[in-house]
Amino acid sequence: MTATHAPAGVLYIVATPIGNLGDMSMRAIEILNSVDLIAAEDTRHSARLLQHFGIQTRMASYHDFSDDTRVDQLLRSLLEGQSIALISDAGTPLISDPGYRLVSLVRARGLRVVPVPGVCAAIAALSAAGIPSDRFTFEGFPPAKQAARLKLFESLQSEARTLVFYESPHRILECVDDMAQAFGSERPAVIARELTKTFETIHGDTLSGLQQWLRADANQQRGEFVILLHGAEESPHDDVPPEARRVLSVLLEELSVKQASALASRLTGVKKNLLYALALEAAGSAKDSPSRAE
Ligand code: SAM
Repeated sequence: MTATHAPAGVLYIVATPIGNLGDMSMRAIEILNSVDLIAAEDTRHSARLLQHFGIQTRMASYHDFSDDTRVDQLLRSLLEGQSIALISDAGTPLISDPGYRLVSLVRARGLRVVPVPGVCAAIAALSAAGIPSDRFTFEGFPPAKQAARLKLFESLQSEARTLVFYESPHRILECVDDMAQAFGSERPAVIARELTKTFETIHGDTLSGLQQWLRADANQQRGEFVILLHGAEESPHDDVPPEARRVLSVLLEELSVKQASALASRLTGVKKNLLYALALEAAGSAKDSPSRAE
């Protein structure tokens, strides 16, 4: 491909395919051909991609843990007017991949950073999972250690937005087990596996259904995974302030639902009907408990 030379001093952030080379964009090829240098997470890995597209641009390795000398070299090259493209092993750089340190330093120097968008596994999964996509939170890889993983999941229990995680094949089972424990086995979720590749599988079920599905076929535990978890059902009582909740729960230890919610309303100024509904929910049933019924 013939390419004009990229403008001076620009850092391009170039997305590359996550499995299907047909997903490489024309603009990505053009930019990789035209820059002075490609900074790659793993130069040996990226050499195959460049070879496939006949790109002969010089490469240097870059990782967020690269020493200051490497980062200084890249910054100096940009300041001298060279253009650089950053790529990762697959998908969009900086999305659970290196690049944040470099991009923030380059921008701090007032230099241009230009995205060349393309594939991202999280977005590809979200686009085809059939799970709410209007609001979502990307959580990247959950912690490898179980205690930290459970703690994270528990902190996200009442998150109403769709939750998007990356996971490796070594931990997919444990991760889904911990999700079932923290979010409840009935929470709907989708596993998007091997996207854009031969064995692409997008499978939705409750978390307990997914636990069984993974265990029933070891092949489903191989490859690369995005896990998408339905957000928590939003409760109409979510906007009751924490202090009113606390007062209500103390009063509920001594009084009926009706008495407790009326008194909590007088003490906190929160509407009685909101507190009444919350008290019923807290009691775990739409009915007042017999011992405290009026
Ligand atoms: N930067 C990449 C992106 O834009 O998606 C993500 C890089 S991260 C190091 C690698 C993780 O992304 C994998 O462990 C997996 O969770 C997810 N992933 C990458 N390719 C995938 C694919 N083809 N199918 C499903 N998940 C994938």
